[in-house]
Amino acid sequence: MVSPIQPEPFRIRMVEPVRVPNEEEREEALKKAHYNMFGLASKDIYIDLLTDSGTGAMSKYQWAALMCGDEAYAGADSFFALKEAVKDVLGFDYVIPTHQGRAAENVIFGTLVKKGDIVPFNMPFDTTRAHIFNNGATPVDCVIDEAFDPESDHPFKGNVDINKLEKVIIEHRDSIPLIMVTVTNNSGGGQPVSLKNLQEVSAVAKKYNIPFFIDAARMAENAYFIKMREKEYASWSLADILKAMMDTADGISVSCKKDPLVNIGGMICCRTEEMYHTLLPRVILFEGFATYGGLAGRDLEALAVGLREMTDEQYMAHRIAQVRYLGELLEEGGVPFVKPTGGHAIFIDAAAFFPHIPQEYFPADVLSIEVYREGAIRGIGLGALAFGTKDEKTGELKLPKLELYRLAINRRTYTNSHLEYVAKKIIDVYKRRDQVRYGLKVKYAPPVEGIHHFLAHLEPFNL
Ligand SMILES: *Cc1c(COP(=O)(O)O)cnc(C)c1O
Repeated sequence: MVSPIQPEPFRIRMVEPVRVPNEEEREEALKKAHYNMFGLASKDIYIDLLTDSGTGAMSKYQWAALMCGDEAYAGADSFFALKEAVKDVLGFDYVIPTHQGRAAENVIFGTLVKKGDIVPFNMPFDTTRAHIFNNGATPVDCVIDEAFDPESDHPFKGNVDINKLEKVIIEHRDSIPLIMVTVTNNSGGGQPVSLKNLQEVSAVAKKYNIPFFIDAARMAENAYFIKMREKEYASWSLADILKAMMDTADGISVSCKKDPLVNIGGMICCRTEEMYHTLLPRVILFEGFATYGGLAGRDLEALAVGLREMTDEQYMAHRIAQVRYLGELLEEGGVPFVKPTGGHAIFIDAAAFFPHIPQEYFPADVLSIEVYREGAIRGIGLGALAFGTKDEKTGELKLPKLELYRLAINRRTYTNSHLEYVAKKIIDVYKRRDQVRYGLKVKYAPPVEGIHHFLAHLEPFNL
């Protein structure tokens, strides 16, 4: 059953024209891109659902705030506007701006983690995983088992399995510099973490005296799911739930290109002066001075407004309904995807979509190619190519449990009818799935673990 459409809670007064390239142009574009979606040019794409990162539309209030940017190198008014918004919306006393989320990761992991360390997670996002590896440490997934079952409709599939977490902590007692939980769990299908679970993780962290950080890129979406699915909080405002989530953590790492509604930006927030000063040297080395961290003053202003806008309940209700609507349309067409639909994206189960393509030939990336062919739509494979790891001894590819293809919904950017077009095209691919009989070989991969899918050159071969 498809729910009634939830109309957009905004008007569009500036438009960005887009065109649909013809079949020949698409084929040419695929070749030029080495069959990697990251290699496609935006002009060759009609609907771009590669990522919801930095691709949203700013409000008129954010555009107006841009004009108020104070570009002082140190102590700019714009920094204090951000600091005030962080305190009001999230409750943290300290904020360090960074140029985006992975820069916050570089500062946090580069400072707190040393070689041989273990970092327990529900599941880390790909750049987070890469940063941990790059510092010689290892992330350990402690997410609940339901996260790996695309058919399970557990309401909080991003939750940490507290038993798994304690076991890891007891086993590696002295080599755990921090615990981190990603909300929502991007790598596991944009699935939320319950407030109860965050409180439990926080209690475990306190018990063992380990700092607890949240990767809070999608904190407002997560808060909305808590409101919808965790009974005790049904009558709470989104803003209060978000604050309660933040209260569980010692600090957060944020890609502000997600929920905070800006096109570029990131930040670290923390509670104590000690943590703030521990992190600052690496900010100066890699980002810039403590009060701008790689961003212009105007960016900080837009971010301060975006932080306040992300807890708007009508906006968030529409956003989540849009994702659900796309899911319902795909469900009608029989397309297998991760249930229940997450906050920012639909994750199609590419292993079930193409059961005849072995995982080591990257079915999720084959699907991304086919969907582009069909409708000039760009999504991205998040499976063996993105998350496969090489066994250090044997050199063999260790395959991840999930083989997903993601369609990320940009914030306030596409209308419901755009999504109807997307659903139709994907269902069309699904109808001809048996005729798709090829796999992909990696012709080039960068020599850095964890970032293969961004830069790989691929080549189709017939199965
Ligand atoms: C996007 C993202 C990051 C990395 O942030 P960037 O702004 O892309 O550098 C980290 N964690 C999560 C959960 C993300 O979604």
